[in-house]
Amino acid sequence: MKQQTLCAVSPFDFTLSRYVVLDNGLRALLISDYSGPSASGDEDSDGEDEGEEEEEEEEDDESGGDSEDGSEEDDDDDYGVDEEDDNEGKKKKGNAEKQSAAALCVGVGSFSDPSDLPGLAHFLEHMVFMGSEKYPSENGFDAFLKKHGGSDNASTDCERTIFQFDVQRKSFKEALDRWAQFFICPLMIRDAIDREVEAVDSEYQLAKPSDSHRKEMLFGSLAKPGHPMGKFCWGNAQTLKQEPKQKKINVYKRLRAFWKKYYSAHYMTLAVQSKGQENLFHLLYIKSQSIRLTEIDLPKADFSDMLDPFDTPAFNKLYRVVPVGKVHALNITWALPPQEKYYRVKPLHYISWLIGHEGTGSILSVLRKKCWALALFGGNSETGFDQNTTYSIFSISITLTDEGFQNFYQVTHLVFQYLKMLQTLGPQKRIYEEIQKIEANEFHYQEQIDPIEYVEDICENMQLFPKDDFLTGDQLMFEFNPEVISAALSLLTPEKANLMLLSPEHEGQCPLREKWFGTQYSIEDIEQEWKERWTGNLELSGDLHLPAENKFIATDFTLKPSDCPDTEFPVRIADSDRGCLWYKKDNKFKIPKAYIRFHVISPVIQQSAKNVVMFDLLVNILGHNLAGPAYEAEVAQLEYKLVAGEHGLVIKVKGFNHKLPLLFHVIIDHLADFAASPDVFSMFAEQLKKTYFNILIKPEKLGKDVRLLILEHSRWSMVEKYQALTAGLNINELMEFSQSFRAELYAEGLVQGNFSSAESKLFLQYVTEKLQFSKLPAEVPVMFRVVELPLKQHICKVKSLNKGDANSEVTVYYQVIALVKLKECEDTHLGEEVDRNWAEVVTQQYVFDRLNREIEALKQMTRTELVSWFKEHRGQNSRKLSVHVRVKGKEEDSSGSTYGEVSKLTFLTASPKMTGSIAIMDIPAFIKGLPLFPYHKILE
Ligand SMILES: [Zn+2]
Repeated sequence: MKQQTLCAVSPFDFTLSRYVVLDNGLRALLISDYSGPSASGDEDSDGEDEGEEEEEEEEDDESGGDSEDGSEEDDDDDYGVDEEDDNEGKKKKGNAEKQSAAALCVGVGSFSDPSDLPGLAHFLEHMVFMGSEKYPSENGFDAFLKKHGGSDNASTDCERTIFQFDVQRKSFKEALDRWAQFFICPLMIRDAIDREVEAVDSEYQLAKPSDSHRKEMLFGSLAKPGHPMGKFCWGNAQTLKQEPKQKKINVYKRLRAFWKKYYSAHYMTLAVQSKGQENLFHLLYIKSQSIRLTEIDLPKADFSDMLDPFDTPAFNKLYRVVPVGKVHALNITWALPPQEKYYRVKPLHYISWLIGHEGTGSILSVLRKKCWALALFGGNSETGFDQNTTYSIFSISITLTDEGFQNFYQVTHLVFQYLKMLQTLGPQKRIYEEIQKIEANEFHYQEQIDPIEYVEDICENMQLFPKDDFLTGDQLMFEFNPEVISAALSLLTPEKANLMLLSPEHEGQCPLREKWFGTQYSIEDIEQEWKERWTGNLELSGDLHLPAENKFIATDFTLKPSDCPDTEFPVRIADSDRGCLWYKKDNKFKIPKAYIRFHVISPVIQQSAKNVVMFDLLVNILGHNLAGPAYEAEVAQLEYKLVAGEHGLVIKVKGFNHKLPLLFHVIIDHLADFAASPDVFSMFAEQLKKTYFNILIKPEKLGKDVRLLILEHSRWSMVEKYQALTAGLNINELMEFSQSFRAELYAEGLVQGNFSSAESKLFLQYVTEKLQFSKLPAEVPVMFRVVELPLKQHICKVKSLNKGDANSEVTVYYQVIALVKLKECEDTHLGEEVDRNWAEVVTQQYVFDRLNREIEALKQMTRTELVSWFKEHRGQNSRKLSVHVRVKGKEEDSSGSTYGEVSKLTFLTASPKMTGSIAIMDIPAFIKGLPLFPYHKILE
């Protein structure tokens, strides 16, 4: 056994990793996690004792995991009361427990499927988990994880297969033993085959209506005959059951053979993350050592000699495709030599950064100006399909508007011009270093990564990179190498590109069918005229240029000294008749990041349904106006979000505090100078119509809307908003609304993180000075008042507004004091704490210690009291409201259109079964005269 300690790589990295190569060839990385508030010595020994006990138990408790599940649960669970063992509760207190996790990667995947059994590798990935010799129960592992707060998953890629799970730390050792048995001695019994084929087949059925899977499958079918890129990796009942039966293929034997050949320790990499303990390491060693090693001289699955899979006449054509979804999209794709070995340079990442840029001079900014495109993505996703030992894809995917679809050759032309520009200018050190800095900042200061995702990435990295780069190889840009970048860039030419154009308008013109997913498509040559324009001297559009220096990249990461006393909760540090500011300096997480949030309250929003719609439009267009100027901030990992709240505009900004004020100012400036062109206005009015429509046709969303309409006093319904919007609005009305919105406001903010109180006050000052508003004439309530239902059961039944959806929706609402299902656990990152405090600010309740109070209140109440209290409130005399959204009968559907009428609700009478319930047929009449609850409900 060889052992080595890898160094922690970042100041915020609390992990220490140990790398071992076992005698059977298995490579393992043990990541000990020291983060979290309770990594104290005695916590550790506590954990170890527990582990020991469990290890002893497991010998005679083999099938225990299964039998305990389900049957004995008492039915009190129906009331949503969580059974908490007292001891457990004590242990958990103050312990922000991270899950322990493990992942194993086997260096084999679908590329190795035998040609007569497509999907075999994927099928095997399923089969190894159907019980082991030591734990034979088929679903025993899942049941065990479920019982101990864990989860597991697995995935089969072209050249790799990954298995991962996570579980509470105290159960990790037992889980690890159970899991390891799948690799040591899986049962894979004959009987399970037929059942599990169904699981594989249903995955295939689920994937079938997805346009991204269809695109991939169709693209794969363009590969040279016999190349693994053309394989049907999913597998289904046809390829794994019906056809083998006809051809007398013994699937069971073939599964075993595949497993024997490839599931060998020396092809496996293992990553484990838990809090550091020695004996875990020992256990891991013992278990992993039991994994079988095939004859070592058997060659590993290797496809690296099958280069240029798409060097075929089928490439460099125009494919027209009928998509499942209603969307126009253009895909421009190149197949490059494998680029994985250049992971230290990441040439495709550099190129896609520029291709996907959204600032001035970028492809998307020009397309947006012409109203041709809505979105653009470019690059390589680094999945096995996009990058493997045979090739690397580079693809650009553009979501087009109707007009963009009509002009797709022009759109393509612009992309080619931009690439030509990049080739002419050559790789830019300044831009490379910017990306490098941004990636490094993100890496070094990232907040918690879910352990299960982390080990999943790392065990794969272990197959791809040398050991020094296990933890960083997929994330960092190590060195600027213009030759490597130029080599990739020079291949992105019009002559080597393949075009795929998706549009519902292609229906009826696509005679071809992709074999496995049935995608309708057609092939044609790229128009001669365009080909000639592209082969000649491509003239560059003057609108295209490289991005300017990004001024949002943080370089100062110092933690600021405190300029006021420490507090547990936010305190109000500025207060006037035009606004106030809540502030809490972070002394717990100690990261150079901060959160700024503002609620800009206005009484005009709720004045009419029309105003609510105007406000939605204003916020959407404001977001559109910011897309260009704030793009640089976003790529520098500063985030912002604008929300059209019910009573005000919510502005949320977060990220490295160094350049955060800059972004905040950009947003406030755009609000102060709000403007919209008629084109943009109508585009967003149309878009909003679709958004409302899509809400109304979803039974669960319509049900919620109806429920809130009944319960919340003076709320406007979605139907009313839709009516106001379809009645027609114009840009002048929007500009007038925007004026009156900004005239009188109240701005309430919360700042948390690495800002001093003096700096924080400046944000409020900037808002009030820049927006130049007057104080509100009267206080504006920020919550709707809730009606008090009579002590009866009520039912409101409306017709579903969706013709096509077969799903009905019923929600039942009991009016009781909300009792939150609580868990005593600490915040694991600053955002959670901010979210909790913000909820108090935005509702103007300010009970920042609500969580503590609720925990105390719950402790006072016994479990029996709780249950009887719930039962009481479910009785005949409860304040109960059921909302039913019923599917329309087929006979009622007389119109021929695909889209139904959604601007009116149809109330239905309650069925005779619902006697004792009062049917609500007219909402305004029903709620008229009902008493209202007071605004603020604070749990005492
Ligand atoms: Zn699967």
